[in-house]
Amino acid sequence: MKKFKAESQRLLELMINSIYTNKEIFLRELISNASDAIDKLHFISLTDSNASREFEIRLEVDKDARTLKVIDNGIGMDEKELEDNLGTIASSGTFKFKAENKTEDELIGQFGVGFYSAFMVADKVTVISKKYGSDAAFAWESSGSDGYTITPSERAESGTTVILHLRPSSEDNNTDELLSDWRIGELVKKYSDYIRYPITMMCESERKKEGTDEWETYTELKTLNSRTPLWKKNKSEITKDELNSFYRGKYYDIVDPLYGFTASTEGALTYNALLFVPGKAPFDYYTADYKRGLSLYSNGVLIMDKCEELLPDYFGFMRGVVDSSDLSLNISREMLQKDRQLKALAAGITKRIINEFTKLLSSDRETYEKIFSEYGASIKFGLYEEFGKHKDELKDIVLFRSSVGKLTTLSEYVGRMGDSTEIYYASGRSVEAIERMPQVEGAKEKGLEVLYLTDRIDEFAMKVLGSYDGKKITPVSSGKEETKDESLNGLTEFMGKVLGDKVKSVRLNDSIGSHPSCLTAEGEVSLEMERILSDMPTGKGIKATRIMEINPRHAIIARAKDMLGSDDEKLTKLTRVLYGEALLLAGLEISDGAEFCGDINDLI
Ligand code: ADP
Ligand code: MG
Repeated sequence: MKKFKAESQRLLELMINSIYTNKEIFLRELISNASDAIDKLHFISLTDSNASREFEIRLEVDKDARTLKVIDNGIGMDEKELEDNLGTIASSGTFKFKAENKTEDELIGQFGVGFYSAFMVADKVTVISKKYGSDAAFAWESSGSDGYTITPSERAESGTTVILHLRPSSEDNNTDELLSDWRIGELVKKYSDYIRYPITMMCESERKKEGTDEWETYTELKTLNSRTPLWKKNKSEITKDELNSFYRGKYYDIVDPLYGFTASTEGALTYNALLFVPGKAPFDYYTADYKRGLSLYSNGVLIMDKCEELLPDYFGFMRGVVDSSDLSLNISREMLQKDRQLKALAAGITKRIINEFTKLLSSDRETYEKIFSEYGASIKFGLYEEFGKHKDELKDIVLFRSSVGKLTTLSEYVGRMGDSTEIYYASGRSVEAIERMPQVEGAKEKGLEVLYLTDRIDEFAMKVLGSYDGKKITPVSSGKEETKDESLNGLTEFMGKVLGDKVKSVRLNDSIGSHPSCLTAEGEVSLEMERILSDMPTGKGIKATRIMEINPRHAIIARAKDMLGSDDEKLTKLTRVLYGEALLLAGLEISDGAEFCGDINDLI
């Protein structure tokens, strides 16, 4: 008896003692393995006619022996492969063993657990396999974590037979039902309906005896799966339910996708695709760990499970499959990555996604807004990425919050702007914070619409965009004509001196609503950008050029003017307080809180 490798043993023990509620997934795993093995032989058969045959996955139940067999006529395994593949956790790395900090359900549900899941329902597993091109067959057998044996065996054709010796049935592990054809049929439909090869089983049916009223049972070989990949079906025949159940089956997601659609040939390459916007962004979506990509098939044969090259980063949240008959099959994965066809495919798919989103914007706004609230940051990142290379494609599918109270596109904003010549925005941590900004209050008083930028990426994206439809995109706080009132020159000069290098200058602005003062920035870096950059290791030390603006129409400023020359000490304190208020309203911190409070107390 040989021992399992340490990690495999732990995984195996987990399966054997499993309290995992969803034990039925074992069948999906075994059928997928069978299908993979047939894929491999199918691939060979394209160039080697000896390898071609009626590919099939056969299921067999034996009620008396209490066995369930999964039989394939795929590539099979030789002695060494039985040892390597079933004695160790798949080197394919589908399973990273991290049981310590995960519950069992999470652990099993989240990963493809593969072959060992058989031990959830079986107390002994026998695998008889014969590798294509070899004369010898071998049997691998194990009754659990003690170890396994490999002995010579018999098998006519290449392929693999997995025999599950089912555990005794119990309340929370009903193995009896695995001996019934309806239950097996149900599991195949649920998990393996789109497997390309027929999954067959002898099934019992009833019929009327000919010429009589009596019923008799008979058995016949039935194909349990519908096989036609959904993406090969005619677009008009695919229902939303089918799309959703395909999605859930393929990605083991418990949430329906927000949106799913089919896509086919656009341009020179022929392809069929099913694309989905997942209901929720994966927990690691915005981290470097996230692996994006679409499954790439060539004429129904899976070439790559997560082909990154098919999606731009900003659509990295999309899931789906792409099947093209134009891809050269005998091309290696490495080569495929640089393949020109692949680039053309990616370009077609990207364009298709943009078109679909554009269509949704007018036909099903609610759905698009949901998509955008979940993934908008990613799409806006696309505007900014590569120095705005994609801004023209994306500028019409980005949404912003706005002072008119709803999500709006830039084009809708322009439609509402009347005689106004610029698109105004303000940025801050939240809508509430932005609405408190004096500049925003002022703009609203004048009847101007302001876009509210609350995502970190927003302002950077706007800078890259620069303008829309010939209208300059500009922060509401800068670039407006300075208010002139010569009688206040002395006051602004005095305040500028008090504040020293905290600000570049103090100037007047009569459109800051009900506030006496506010803070604004001049030049490329805004106050909000300064805040975001200061959180990044590379952005430290990048500062906005600050300007304090005071409101000449405000009573406090009128009082301040009176103080000038008569009570400079008080005016100094008032200046510092006005600056502190401006900082707070801009969402920034006051560096010397004690001085600020002291000043206020003195003034009161
Ligand atoms: P995975 O399928 O993720 O690689 P599994 O645990 O399901 O992991 O399977 C481990 C390995 O055993 C597979 O990668 C494959 O090489 C081999 N294997 C399993 N079942 C079969 C089969 N029916 N025919 C050929 N090889 C198989
Ligand atoms: Mg597997």
